[in-house]
Amino acid sequence: MSDPPFRSGFVALLGRPNVGKSTLVNRLVGRKVSIVSDHPQTTRRRISGVLNRPGYQIVFLDLPGFQKPFDSLTRRMQAVVDATLEEVDAALVVLNAAEPLGGGDHFIARVVAESGTPFVAALNKIDLVSPTVLAGRLASAAEVLGQDRLVSVSALRGDGVDAVVAGLSTTLSEGPMYFPEGESSDQPLESLVAELIREQALAVTRDEVPHAIAVEIESLHERPGAALIEIEARIVVEHESQKAILIGKGGRVVKRIGTGARREIEAILGARVYLALRVKVRRRWRRDESYVERLL
Ligand code: GDP
Ligand code: MG
Repeated sequence: MSDPPFRSGFVALLGRPNVGKSTLVNRLVGRKVSIVSDHPQTTRRRISGVLNRPGYQIVFLDLPGFQKPFDSLTRRMQAVVDATLEEVDAALVVLNAAEPLGGGDHFIARVVAESGTPFVAALNKIDLVSPTVLAGRLASAAEVLGQDRLVSVSALRGDGVDAVVAGLSTTLSEGPMYFPEGESSDQPLESLVAELIREQALAVTRDEVPHAIAVEIESLHERPGAALIEIEARIVVEHESQKAILIGKGGRVVKRIGTGARREIEAILGARVYLALRVKVRRRWRRDESYVERLL
């Protein structure tokens, strides 16, 4: 008998801000910010994690629109969700058990249920509620989403996480391993972040400071539990005149670089980012071989 075929799939994470999507994915994937890749099929998407198990792989995608507060349940939002659900193999709906289900939750649940896309719904943060309250929340979630695909979860403690994986794994079909196992460690987070900052600096300065720009990551901390990454970085140039261009009047240029880079980093890592960016002169850095080596 030959082995069963490898299975894989993309899973969209759906849920209001703060329900615990990032925490849950980090828990599922077993590592904070596990993703890093420029895989052609996935570049512009918000990949928040890759789960590898023997025989299958799940790639979790964050929805762009859902990063923002979920006030306006506009048609546009509906279109974004619909389009995403068409592209993915399954959805992971995340709800917060510590609050009554609100308009945003119902909206998401309804769109998913009506789309016919396979899904698992995680009622998260059960560590914060009594069994009685939980029973009530489960019942109201089941009204919209049905009983079978509903899992009680504490992303923080790890409860229910295996059940989520088990549920999602049944939605996968034969497919490639989109990301080689361990790929995330090939490119350290630092160099990815440096590259994204450099890209923004080049975009903003165009031909004025061409290749004299390097980026040093001074520190990069993931604040546990907060789904926040704090980064301190320096843009390094060769001359004072270049520094002046990069800082701009009243710091305008460096601010623009920082904002652009922060958005990119957040989009790719699916976490909030605090980025402190400074500009520094390091004369003739390009001729300093040991320095150049350290940059890579
Ligand atoms: P997202 O906006 O949906 O990605 O939510 P986050 O993953 O950023 O989580 C929002 C907040 O809820 C953070 O402070 C988490 O630590 C917290 N949180 C997430 N999951 C749980 C959980 O299962 N229990 C508790 N008590 N807090 C949680
Ligand atoms: Mg998040």
